[in-house]
Amino acid sequence: MPFEGKSREEIELILAESKKKFAHYKAKGLSLDMSRGKPNPEQLDLSMEMMDILGSDADFSSENGADCRNYGELSGIPEIKRLFSELLDIPAENIFVGGNSSLNLMFHTFSRAYAKGLADSKEPWSKCETVKFLCPVPGYDRHFAVCEYFGIEMINVPMLDTGPDMAVVENLVRHDASIKGIWCVPIYSNPDGCIYSAETISRLASMKCAADDFTIMWDNAYSVHSLYAERVSIAGILSECEKYGNANRVLLFTSANKITLTGAGVSCIGGSKASMLAFIQTAAISTIGYDKLNMLRHARFLKDKEAVLTLMEKHAALLRPKFEAVDDVLRENIGEYSIAEWTKPHGGYFISLNAYPSTAKKTYELCREAGVTLTAPGATFPYGMDPEDKNIRIAPSFPSLSEIKDATEILSIALIITAAEETLHRATKD
Ligand code: PLP
Repeated sequence: MPFEGKSREEIELILAESKKKFAHYKAKGLSLDMSRGKPNPEQLDLSMEMMDILGSDADFSSENGADCRNYGELSGIPEIKRLFSELLDIPAENIFVGGNSSLNLMFHTFSRAYAKGLADSKEPWSKCETVKFLCPVPGYDRHFAVCEYFGIEMINVPMLDTGPDMAVVENLVRHDASIKGIWCVPIYSNPDGCIYSAETISRLASMKCAADDFTIMWDNAYSVHSLYAERVSIAGILSECEKYGNANRVLLFTSANKITLTGAGVSCIGGSKASMLAFIQTAAISTIGYDKLNMLRHARFLKDKEAVLTLMEKHAALLRPKFEAVDDVLRENIGEYSIAEWTKPHGGYFISLNAYPSTAKKTYELCREAGVTLTAPGATFPYGMDPEDKNIRIAPSFPSLSEIKDATEILSIALIITAAEETLHRATKD
């Protein structure tokens, strides 16, 4: 219950005081952006050394002697494959290295599925009457945008602390052959910060699927992005799938974008041998090869997983105070009112806040009036439709610490105003 134990008059008083505070902040004419999970320039500075690592007269050969300035090595150079193989916990020969965006490789995968089909497809998805995809919610808006682009029908699946609700997933995929896959962000999920349990991973790998080409889009974007001194290791999804005879069921993705430079990282896709062969057939049509100098730069700068984890500790030192500031300000301002719940993630780029139902859109608008940009309400759900109008994704990485504090003060006030108005409105209706 929001404002538990408070009378109507008390809630009206809280509302009036909050409106005064809101007017004060609005008058400041602030402009604060907590909408997208972008690193702050200080984080990007951590990798600037990488830009000089090759030098103009350096040896531009990869370990296998390939001249990285020239065409060749379509699937990437061995040293960067080795690094990604450590990060994704799959063999290096099962990896294809792309350009600076893993999202692009995901899009590429859907293009192939539609034009030719995936490794186990009987026909291209474009020939199927209906194609459906499971979308754990709240989730990543750009995953949903890819599905929407291809006209795929999206089905919401609730997220639990252990990952997607597997009872729901298993029930849906068992009988419906038009369900072709599921989006998964297994470590520090966007936006909940959830880490999938071993049981969830095993059930995803072993479940009975009506579609032969059911595909787990395993987007491991945040595998090394801890905010605290902890190293996360989860069960290997590819080996689990192999164990149950479903080796082609999973495609894995990650990138170095939020390790080095978000605008100029390196990405990869991994999977079974058969899946990678199928992927390369299309990749070979679309490019003669990705940027190998950038692969070489990354391999020489990042070296191995251990060195990556050391670099990530420096990112964490910059990010942690911002995440903690959001939590502190929310707790201080709204903790006593029971009007919202929010995550306290141990990693990743987001805090997921559930406001009082039916108030997320109004809260977003109020914040906007006071100069705070949040991720658009509904963005964490397929078609931009949050059925309860309550989820707000907070991205604390880009603004400075003092901007984060101001933005969260304003968000807290907006949450109080909208929850108080909604509570009074409901009480009047009752
Ligand atoms: N996947 C998830 C879950 C993300 O949150 C993001 C960026 O926010 C991406 C992928 C984008 O990855 P990339 O920059 O490699 O395209």
